[in-house]
This record gives sequence, structure tokens and C-alpha cells, in this order.
Amino acid sequence: MTIRPILTVPNPILKQVSKPVDAVTDETRKLMDDMLETMYAAPGIGLAAIQIGVPLNVIVMDLARDGEPPQVKYFVNPEILEEADDVMPYDEGCLSVPDVFETIERPERVKLTYLDYNGERVTEVCEGLYATCIQHEMDHLKGIVFIDYLSRLKRERAVKKVAKAEKMKAVG
Ligand code: ZN
Repeated sequence: MTIRPILTVPNPILKQVSKPVDAVTDETRKLMDDMLETMYAAPGIGLAAIQIGVPLNVIVMDLARDGEPPQVKYFVNPEILEEADDVMPYDEGCLSVPDVFETIERPERVKLTYLDYNGERVTEVCEGLYATCIQHEMDHLKGIVFIDYLSRLKRERAVKKVAKAEKMKAVG
């Protein structure tokens, strides 16, 4: 497994729309292994392939809290079939927008279908943090980052903050 660099805003690649995966192969699994390693190293709870520059509909996630056993989930070609009318606010962050947290409202429950690590079809209802996280990651597949939901002023401030931190990292 390889840790890959995570792209940050305003990198235009993050705006790309990702493509469906034809079939879950060893190559797809290698990508998912690298993504998981990269996500753990960050550390984060979810990662979409485009965040490491691969425009494919692939997501990895682990919502386990500190001290809990891993709850690794892999999603290939995820699709939302139904969503609840009720929304849940959550203080979201993103590995592509480091150190920025903003409250975003999303449907609190979604019915989801996807292919897993072995290419098996899974259909399930996600709630709470799981629902929030999968919707956040699926936005990445459409080229949407959570700060796109903020006012222009807040979004520009977030991008500036990230760009400045990246520059400092490059210097230091
Ligand atoms: Zn994100």
C-alpha cells in the first residue's frame, strides 16, 4: 500500500466529475488499499478517489472512534436511491480543506446502493454520521467540495487559509 498526496483547494482537479468504474478488479482494489492507507495517515474518516487525483467513483471510509475496532467500508459506483426530508446539521471538515470546519445540513437518512471491495452489490439505509459522510464523499465525485455550500465570502476565506498553510508547508 502507498500513501498518496491529497489534493487541496483550490486545485482544479477537485472540480472534475468522476467516472463510474466498469468492473471491480485487482487494480480497483489496489486503488482502494492506497486510499485507505492515505486516509488513515491523514488522518481522516472518509476519502474519495479524486482527492488523490483519480477521477473514478470510488470512496473509502472508516467511522470507528478512537479505541474501537476498524469499520472499513469501500464504495464503488455509489448511488443514492432515496433521501429523507429531514435534515441533520453537522460540523464538517475535509482533508482537501485542512483545518476548516463549517456546519452543513444534509438529509439525515439516505438509501444507498454500491459495489463493495469484492464487487458485490450492497443496498442499505445510512443514518447519522454515516449518512453525512457518504453524502460529503459522493459530492466529491461530482466535483463538489463542502465549502461550495458556504457563502462566497466564507468560501474565499477558507480557500485563502488553505493556500497560505500549503505555502508555509512548502517553505518549511
Ligand atoms: Zn471531503
